Amino acid sequence: MTDEPFRPAPWPVLALDLGASRIRAAVVLPDGSLASRADGITRGAAGPEAVIADCIDLLNRVRSATPATTATAIGGLGISAPGPVVPATGLIVEPPNMPAFRDVPFAEPVGRAVGLPAALDRDTNVAMLGELVFGAARGARHVIYLTVSTGLGGAIVADGRLVTGPDGVAGELGHLVVDLDGPPCGCGDRGHLESFSSGTAIVRAAREALDAGAAPGLASAMGAITPAQVTARDVAAAEDAGDPTATRIMASARRAFASALVGIVNVFAPELIVVGGSLARSQGDRWLDPARDAVRARAFRIPAARVRIVPADLGDDVGLVGASVLVGTRLADARPA
Ligand SMILES: [Zn+2]
Repeated sequence: MTDEPFRPAPWPVLALDLGASRIRAAVVLPDGSLASRADGITRGAAGPEAVIADCIDLLNRVRSATPATTATAIGGLGISAPGPVVPATGLIVEPPNMPAFRDVPFAEPVGRAVGLPAALDRDTNVAMLGELVFGAARGARHVIYLTVSTGLGGAIVADGRLVTGPDGVAGELGHLVVDLDGPPCGCGDRGHLESFSSGTAIVRAAREALDAGAAPGLASAMGAITPAQVTARDVAAAEDAGDPTATRIMASARRAFASALVGIVNVFAPELIVVGGSLARSQGDRWLDPARDAVRARAFRIPAARVRIVPADLGDDVGLVGASVLVGTRLADARPA
């Protein structure tokens, strides 16, 4: 089996990162730098047509903001979108946080509007591609990528190839079961990693404690906000202030993450686990160390000794930088340099 040619596009690309709350667009150069960049809110409730129109508008804006020599050299469009998606057809299937998007053809209409061949993949796969070429996973061939923010997403590179499965939807590591009787997950099942170790899960647990009147300390630690306004950041801050309920919720999130990593190491024996996402980034080693300790203590000896668990290198623009690698890897033969 040969390695996939993970490589940036040899020319500038238009990049689009569609998220449940924000849309980001950029012109990305072959060295991974951004020649121009813009973002806006995702008007999810306005429906797919409005969101697609906003995406096209942002892409046209970043293209016209680059020098003419760069703009005319743009050779493709790379799109990062919330999963599940079907990369082969550019279809967005059923993202849990965007209920209006059901089987929406996305890459084709956007690519047609900007006049470029388009490649689309799940946000976590695009992030993995960015980290492989420009970030923390450079040179690695056996990698797990996890992103911990509102949700918990994953991507798998095994033996130098992105694991996609026959339909392009493989790698949803946030939906590993970590507790048979655990809380409901956004996907409709229960007890999944995402239902413990994500911003959504932390907020849900805090609201339940507040609504039950079981956390007077948490309520006062968070000041005047109502349960409906609680964010994961508030819960983390309340833990820092010593609140026992917040500490219990955050510890449970870290423990579920650590346990999942033991299973992931036993199954995939990766050389590297790269952890991105705003929640993991803000927690730093406080989030990663329990996972490192659990893997060392509980996983099989050889993979446990081999694996390194590291923070992602690329920040919020990982989906834009990764879009260049997506285009370079999937479309580079479509347009000779
Ligand atoms: Zn789930």
